[in-house]
Amino acid sequence: NTEKNKEWLQEYVDGWVDFFRKQTDTGKVADYIPKLEEADPNTLGITIIGKDGMQIRSGDLDHSFSIQSISKVLSFIVACMDRGITYVLQRVDVEPTGEAFNSIVHLAINSSNRPFNPMVNAGAITVSSLLNGNTSDEKLEPLFQLMENMIGYRPELDIDVYVSERDTSMRNRAIGYYLLEEGYLESDLGVTLETYFKQCSINITTDDLARMGLILSNDGVHPETEEVIIPKNVARIAKSLMLTCGMYDASGKFASYVGIPAKSGVSGGILAVVPPRVRDNDLPFLDGCGIGVFGPALDKQGNSVSGIKLLRHIANSWDMSLF
Ligand code: GLU
Repeated sequence: NTEKNKEWLQEYVDGWVDFFRKQTDTGKVADYIPKLEEADPNTLGITIIGKDGMQIRSGDLDHSFSIQSISKVLSFIVACMDRGITYVLQRVDVEPTGEAFNSIVHLAINSSNRPFNPMVNAGAITVSSLLNGNTSDEKLEPLFQLMENMIGYRPELDIDVYVSERDTSMRNRAIGYYLLEEGYLESDLGVTLETYFKQCSINITTDDLARMGLILSNDGVHPETEEVIIPKNVARIAKSLMLTCGMYDASGKFASYVGIPAKSGVSGGILAVVPPRVRDNDLPFLDGCGIGVFGPALDKQGNSVSGIKLLRHIANSWDMSLF
């Protein structure tokens, strides 16, 4: 019975969170943006939300944090919804780089003459330039609207993170100038970068991430209202990008050991999408659910150390892999 199952799952997750919270030895809170340095490395929280509304919430849930790179999934979705998939994919490719998110090695242009993918900064900054509007606020309006449709309220910008980000962004500016020189940007460089820094500075919680994951898992349809929030073909490309490029240059390992589409950000958040599929177990609630994790101590690639361990453990224990 569902209530019994839920209690049982909750106890497991509580135990795992306590265990993995202490496993951040190798991790370090991001310090290249001064504001992010303030996070407590031993924080760990998780929310899991299923299609029927059942929730498991555990650990440090009262923290909000900036969405950072997870916003790249949303800006890509908005650009595709506004400009069409073909238009967007003519300007940014969908191939992994194997390099860090802010790499200037594979800076922009791959053999098909486009930034590699929308999950690395060169691609994400290009996508920000594709959003409609003359100012960063105009460009971000549909992104805020999409988030509101997904999570049920309008999230807010963390001004301190934005300022911190903007004032320490030499590398992103360098990437921006390069994209400008190569003719990739469709809006003014200053406006494009401001849009990118602001989108990274939106405040969210693990509950919000789990709701977003649930809608992506459900191919863009809100499971309660049945409203189509994201067209199915856009949701599917977003998920495949998460699987192949979402966990920085550890995306291959994450796909191999965890096997679900996910996107992380340098504040320590992870958005994970558990696909619905027929499973040989009795946990239907977990079939097609969304998971949000927050653990700010990061590994070398920029992924949450305890967050990855927790997700890997849950996905393996409960047979969540796509494969
Ligand atoms: N604000 C970040 C940047 O430097 C986003 C990085 C991330 O979360 O990967 O571009």
